Amino acid sequence: VALPITRRRFNARLLRWHPGARRSLLIRTAANPWEVLVAEVMSQQTGIERVGPMWRRFVDRWPTPADLAVAGTHELLAAWAGLGYNRRALALREAARVIVADHTGRVPGTVESLEALPGIGPYTARAVAAAGFGVPVAPLDVNMRRVVSRVFGVAASDRGLQATTDALVSRTEPGRWFDAVMDLAAETCLPRAPRCETCPLAALCLSRGGVASVEPRGRAVPFPSTTRWLRGRLIARVTAVPQGGWVSLPERMGMHDGIAIDAAVHDLEREGFIERRDREVRVRH
Ligand code: SF4
Repeated sequence: VALPITRRRFNARLLRWHPGARRSLLIRTAANPWEVLVAEVMSQQTGIERVGPMWRRFVDRWPTPADLAVAGTHELLAAWAGLGYNRRALALREAARVIVADHTGRVPGTVESLEALPGIGPYTARAVAAAGFGVPVAPLDVNMRRVVSRVFGVAASDRGLQATTDALVSRTEPGRWFDAVMDLAAETCLPRAPRCETCPLAALCLSRGGVASVEPRGRAVPFPSTTRWLRGRLIARVTAVPQGGWVSLPERMGMHDGIAIDAAVHDLEREGFIERRDREVRVRH
């Protein structure tokens, strides 16, 4: 991924910050891939804190896929009560049956084989592969999407975000990395009012302090008018050419004039993302 922030810098900050900020969630006591899988399916549409006690009771009662595969529908739905979306419970039992039939009762460890299980989508498959098997893949949900898109100054709907995020995941501790980004999203990089002043990624983040805020009357600030937009476009310009190539600075970019462009370039230069010579800039090596 041709982006100026390296995995090493991102992860050093994130993982150094995390021990002091780690949320102690019951589901993080999952002891094996089956327990991780059940926790992920339960949290698909239910708040992670509410899931904890129900998840514990569930995996104590059905500690392996083989146990759940033969569970009765009634007792299964009773155990699921309060979580909602009951079809997830039946799909989980179906997944347990496939695990028994096709994988000798053990949760498979690749994204492809997990995704082939009933009720397991791309996000859950990646979460289980990362947290249960140490596979360096990134489960991209709305929270992770928010953090990564802000750090790189791109839209949260950006189609390249999965590839960018996969390139970022810690190769040695994908499970801990996943927890750390989720904790950052839950406590610091909040949807409406991110706490950039206490964020470990602030030094790298192209949106730091500039996330479109909400005006008093409730109207969102138009994105192209923000510094974040301008910084994102500048980064897109310099990464669109092969490494080492210079690109010229335009007179205007969207709603921003030369003075605003100069100020944004100056900030990006000072933060170590780009270098400048006269009216040209490039990614700094
Ligand atoms: S600096 Fe702010 S916008 Fe950027 S990741 Fe941190 S909290 Fe989110």
